[in-house]
Amino acid sequence: MTEPTKTEPIKTLPLVFDEPRGRRKPPRHLADLDEAGRKALLTDAGLPGFRAKQLSNHYFARLVDDPAEMTDLPAGQRDELVSALLPSLMTPVRTMEADKGATVKTLWKLFDGSLVESVLMRYPGRVTMCVSSQAGCGMACPFCATGQGGLQRNMSTAEIVEQVVAGARALARGEVAGGVGRVSNVVFMGMGEPMANYKAMIGAVRRLTDPAPAGLGMSARHVTVSTVGLVPRMLQLADEGIPVTLALSLHAPDDELRNELVPINTRFSVAETVDAAHNYFAKTGRRVSIEYAMMRDINDQAWRADLLADVLNERGRGWAHANLIPLNEVPGSQFTRSREEDMEEFVRRLEAKGISTTMRDTRGNDIDAACGQLAASE
Ligand code: SAH
Repeated sequence: MTEPTKTEPIKTLPLVFDEPRGRRKPPRHLADLDEAGRKALLTDAGLPGFRAKQLSNHYFARLVDDPAEMTDLPAGQRDELVSALLPSLMTPVRTMEADKGATVKTLWKLFDGSLVESVLMRYPGRVTMCVSSQAGCGMACPFCATGQGGLQRNMSTAEIVEQVVAGARALARGEVAGGVGRVSNVVFMGMGEPMANYKAMIGAVRRLTDPAPAGLGMSARHVTVSTVGLVPRMLQLADEGIPVTLALSLHAPDDELRNELVPINTRFSVAETVDAAHNYFAKTGRRVSIEYAMMRDINDQAWRADLLADVLNERGRGWAHANLIPLNEVPGSQFTRSREEDMEEFVRRLEAKGISTTMRDTRGNDIDAACGQLAASE
């Protein structure tokens, strides 16, 4: 049985790919552009093009945001240069900390009042920034807090990048518990469906991985793009030549259940979606992460673990990694977290069939910063 509310997001998909006309765009920022584009923007405005490199250096390498610290720019032209390429994109509304300051969630207000959240997670030896790619989300997965409010709009490349730069800046200034540090990993697992905002997402990936000062100079392997399974976009990503990690939010190995949990499945079946994930591995050599949120008596039966392993093994051995996520319970939702013993049995079954499996930690649960809990309520 399909209820009208569940088929709706599928009908609105074209809107997600093409931004509605007539909307005001986020301010143009150097992070939206490659080096040539930055130069061109300055010269078109009658400003010297070579200043673009200095501005990029301030933004991506020095992580400076105060024009007063950009002393290599002539005082008389500084404001004009900064407003041309480094306009303010977002302001923090609120930050919340958990895990003794090792997890920091920030609620951001964008230029048009849209609210998005990002989460910084510090572990021994690495710092992961979880970023949003859309304000809201149009995918309507019923167990996810973001999915309940619908899509407000796509974020720009610079709005996505700025979340990472803000984290990097806080770490560089020693403002995060644990002292001075750097962002080592980025996961597109905040609000939104990154593949439904493909152009801005791939632009952000390029800015994150471009060597400094053109970008942040991160390793593509340390960037993870997570998707509900927009098959054409997964195929496109495989041909970009950037070896990012792909995460597929599968959550069920059979169409009957996945149609309910991840409504886009009515458009792209489990078989098509897993084929596209396998194609990503075949083309890039990057092992795909299969995300599976453990929901009590919904998708956590032992037979589904066996079926999941079979669905993956049918396409080859060792190409996928199962990442089980104990469900983060969203207030008012009918979905609850699996029992401990069922999760353990699920892992045993997968491993028995040769699937490498991990259980994701649930950082930030107490500040609603854990996976699927970002809802930007204010
Ligand atoms: N739209 C993308 C990325 C955002 S969510 C995607 O769906 O992949 C990042 C991950 O958190 C996804 O695997 C998503 O399914 C999962 N998630 C959503 N709600 C959750 C919840 N309540 N508990 C645990 N994981 C959840």
